[in-house]
Amino acid sequence: DKITIAIDGYSSTGKSTLAKQIAKHLGYVYVDTGAMYRAVTLFAMENGYIGEGFFDKETLVAGLPFIKLQFIFNPDLGFGEMFLNGKNVETEIRSIAVSSFVSQIAEVSEVRAKLVEQQQAMGTEKGIVMDGRDIGTVVFPNAELKIFMTASPHTRAERRFEELKAKGQPATFEQVFQNVVARDHIDTHRDDSPLRKADDAIEIDNSHLTREEQFAKVLALIER
Ligand code: C5P
Repeated sequence: DKITIAIDGYSSTGKSTLAKQIAKHLGYVYVDTGAMYRAVTLFAMENGYIGEGFFDKETLVAGLPFIKLQFIFNPDLGFGEMFLNGKNVETEIRSIAVSSFVSQIAEVSEVRAKLVEQQQAMGTEKGIVMDGRDIGTVVFPNAELKIFMTASPHTRAERRFEELKAKGQPATFEQVFQNVVARDHIDTHRDDSPLRKADDAIEIDNSHLTREEQFAKVLALIER
């Protein structure tokens, strides 16, 4: 029988790589919830609601009904790409600028409520692998398998740095490292922090694991 798989953890722990690999292997749908928070951030930036040193939260909240998010399946990639109001924003939402504002956007309870509702609607059918921060705790507390991924900040910054470089997006290692540390801090230091390991989640620290080793670990858990 098909199940729901929740993959949570810190940024750049390779959650999405692993989640995509599992989804592909099982023929499941993959959903990247970080992309949704990033798309809302891009919307706020494009409309001038957020920028260096300012954030007009009220206007963003008022604008939420005008944000349409869709994952449109790309057969070449094997998963859905993020569309914001009809436009493919996969590249824009991965920029360092979006990364630097996204935690502030993700802190807004109205934003979380809207996105969690959409995520739950996508999961009404089993056979889904969803990655994020609060999937095992808030979105699908009844998920049959919950994974919580961790890795050292240095390892994660290295991964993000290589990822940005491969995409030709300019950033220094120091910028990327600072961004990882800053997002961890915001993501874990608020009262209603989304980043919490569910009691029944299985923790995987992959600082020293290859992709193949992680994949094998999760497959073993699924076949359990
Ligand atoms: O996974 P990714 O690094 O792309 O997520 C970007 C940001 O979105 C995170 O740093 C976090 O602030 C927010 N996020 C969240 N809840 C989720 C997924 C992402 O708060 N389920």
